[in-house]
Amino acid sequence: MSEKITMTDGKLTVPDNPQIPFISGDGIGPEIWAAAKEVFDAAIKKAYAGQKAVDWIPLLAGQTAFDQTGQWLPDETLETLRENLVAIKGPLTTPVGKGHRSINVTLRQKLDLYACFRPVKYYEGTPSPVKEPEKVDIAIFRENTEDIYAGIDFAEGSTGAEKLKALLEEEGQLEKVRFPKTSAFAIKPISKEGSVRLVKAAIDYALGHGRKNVALVHKGNIMKKTEGSFKQWGYDACLAYGNEVFTQPEYDEVFKTCGKEAAEQKKNEAKVFVSDVICDNFFQQTLLYPDKFDVAATMNLNGDYISDALAAQVGGIGIAPGANINYQTGRAIFEATHGTAPQFAGQDKLNPTSIILSGAMMFDYLGWIEVSELIERAVAKAISNKHVTIDFAEKMDGATTLKTSEFGHYVAEIL
Ligand code: NAD
Repeated sequence: MSEKITMTDGKLTVPDNPQIPFISGDGIGPEIWAAAKEVFDAAIKKAYAGQKAVDWIPLLAGQTAFDQTGQWLPDETLETLRENLVAIKGPLTTPVGKGHRSINVTLRQKLDLYACFRPVKYYEGTPSPVKEPEKVDIAIFRENTEDIYAGIDFAEGSTGAEKLKALLEEEGQLEKVRFPKTSAFAIKPISKEGSVRLVKAAIDYALGHGRKNVALVHKGNIMKKTEGSFKQWGYDACLAYGNEVFTQPEYDEVFKTCGKEAAEQKKNEAKVFVSDVICDNFFQQTLLYPDKFDVAATMNLNGDYISDALAAQVGGIGIAPGANINYQTGRAIFEATHGTAPQFAGQDKLNPTSIILSGAMMFDYLGWIEVSELIERAVAKAISNKHVTIDFAEKMDGATTLKTSEFGHYVAEIL
């Protein structure tokens, strides 16, 4: 009999036969999911010799759900996701038309999955556009529920825009708007609670995974009250960790009063060092000296750009894994980070690695480390053996091109 995963006193309890809902998704979703599931089940069997197994629960969402039920995100799906803490999904079609939000954004907001976690690292042999992609190994924590993504937009000439202009005038701020008559406006909410919980997620990850440096990435020099506060609240959150965490402002203070040696000693003694970096500089630094960074914590918009830019550096835009997590409730959805690639649907052709590696992240999150490590090692081996799908094969010399399903069989075999 399978059982639900639960959370008590901030810790996940994972039974030996957990129920895990999955949404295979639209477009190439069902094909990549089938390949991934084969790898997951084989890895669990290999790691635990039948002592543990996952009961995969199918859920409907996206185009497939709309065609069958008339709902893009059926109530039953949301209910099952609420009842089960951990789930995995393939890509979903974003409904086109007025008023339709992306289903991914809806899921993140309805389940308050505040941290978008994207570990970006290089797998030997992956075709990459940069000279030393192996120097990139950065875990990105992107805030998922706030920022300009809150969707508070006022169109040019709308009642909302006019009311906002009246408020700006009252506050003596309207003169800062260059073309007030034709301006559209958007609101950027950044809160203390939202910032603190995200920064803590990044620090906890660093502590739990032996990563030394956490960078708070922001544009606080320009957006002082929003992004600047994110930085300050982030530093304030570090106080709760005592001697385990040392920060750049603390370093500067010790440096000023006791000198460099003392400051360096304090930094070395701490498990984690938290500093901050302006976003544009972060882009430059991660291209020039990526090995300076271990973990990055940032807000929604910066995080969106950073995730894709870093994934591209390791050639991994089609294989990069990701998860949306609420570390307080334990709720998490692991997901393929690419879209549905509808023009390739049904061709058994594209790369299932993004969802396979997202599964590895999920097993790590559940504490099934053996499974996670087996999967990651096998994927790395498949790439270095040049047994890959077409997207990689066409950029490699002497590669064997595998179909989506064949890649699944191959990875499962070499686990
Ligand atoms: P897309 O990611 O589906 O495809 C862009 C291109 O990337 C494809 O043409 C293909 O060349 C490549 N690609 C994508 N997945 C790949 C894979 N697994 N292996 C190899 N190459 C791959 O982006 P799009 O065309 O902009 O969007 C198509 C649909 O997907 C839209 O409805 C969009 O809203 C949706 N979408 C969903 C998600 C999600 O569910 N997380 C994310 C992005 C886009």
